[in-house]
Amino acid sequence: MILAPATIGIIGGGQLGRLFTQAAQDLGYRVCVLEPDQYSPAGAIADQHIVASYDDETALKQLSVQCAVITTEFENISAPALKLLGKNSLVRPQDSAVAIAQDRILEKAFIQSCGLRTAPYGAITTSSEIATAAKAIEFPCLLKTARFGYDGKGQITVHNMDEVREGFVHFNHAPCVLEQRIDLEYEISVILGRNRQGETRCFPVAENTHINGILHKTIVPSQVDKALQHSAQAAAIRLADKLDYIGVLAVEFFISKQGELLINEIAPRTHNSGHYTLDACVTSQFEQQVRMVCDLPFGDVDLLSPVVMINLLGDCWGQEPEKTQPHWDAVLSSPMAKLHLYAKQQARQGRKMGHYCTLATQLDVAEAEAELVFKNIVNKD
Ligand code: ATP
Ligand code: MG
Repeated sequence: MILAPATIGIIGGGQLGRLFTQAAQDLGYRVCVLEPDQYSPAGAIADQHIVASYDDETALKQLSVQCAVITTEFENISAPALKLLGKNSLVRPQDSAVAIAQDRILEKAFIQSCGLRTAPYGAITTSSEIATAAKAIEFPCLLKTARFGYDGKGQITVHNMDEVREGFVHFNHAPCVLEQRIDLEYEISVILGRNRQGETRCFPVAENTHINGILHKTIVPSQVDKALQHSAQAAAIRLADKLDYIGVLAVEFFISKQGELLINEIAPRTHNSGHYTLDACVTSQFEQQVRMVCDLPFGDVDLLSPVVMINLLGDCWGQEPEKTQPHWDAVLSSPMAKLHLYAKQQARQGRKMGHYCTLATQLDVAEAEAELVFKNIVNKD
């Protein structure tokens, strides 16, 4: 076991890093953040902040020397840099898991190799592969870059072969997947912790609503059929086992109108749809990450109350040039709501600035309150 006050390193200084840092510090650990942005959410509260790029060798060496274990808050770290880091230090999750999760082509092939289903897709690494890829699917589809996409960025809807060709050029011939657009009934996600002994604990299934490819709302407990929820948890555990994963893993699922359970993607880290655990579970996903990377026992994953989480994007701020604040009173005066802000300097459109949860003994009460708060908080001036 790695005991406090040891130092934990984290690569990435965004909101997931900030919430991880808070959880680690609550348990008495010190945290060292590697993040190039001088004003990052996690860097602002970490015990130490190394301001350097994620693959800066000197910075990575410094991290190795200072930290008992190193983890990550995002998947777009160069896998070779992580591998190098792994030679000198304990890195959790390990580079092989991150390498798969950061590349949609490897990821989908991996999911299918585990006997699990994805949406129909074809891989495109050169123009000559477009015709073969299109045979695997029916239009309309999504063309997604294999790497560096997040919050719906790096993907476009395409309706025919010409649009696929144009899209591939638009993405500068970067490797892509052409993915069937699924008629969605639900989107759900499973977040789990897996320890060194290969034991796992799943948090309750989160039911998610996206707007323009960005998560808007999560409700728990999910209203999806219980058997499907169990299948999703079993699938997530299978993926974690096959990766021999140590840490917190998130798996996003589609449920089609026909009731098929398909895996959308995996994230080798905590996840936006798990923020509800901060306010509604005995242990948050961030504390579980601390526990897993430090070889501590699992924290309890029970849900204490029905909960609804809503993201606050930069869009909730007023228009340029005034950029007036959202109506904070709407959330601060709600007896059911708990607000979390990430201390980001600038409220840009689509940027995740914070979130809130509403809790009530009845899920429909929590959901109605969450919606009312959202209607009133948004600055329409
Ligand atoms: P993030 O990393 O923030 O989850 P991302 O950029 O990796 O986002 P995806 O998870 O691939 O993007 O897609 C974002 C959302 O867009 C999905 O949650 C879903 O709502 C919608 N979407 C993506 N692919 C499909 C599809 N094949 N069929 C239907 N909807 C889709
Ligand atoms: Mg996603």
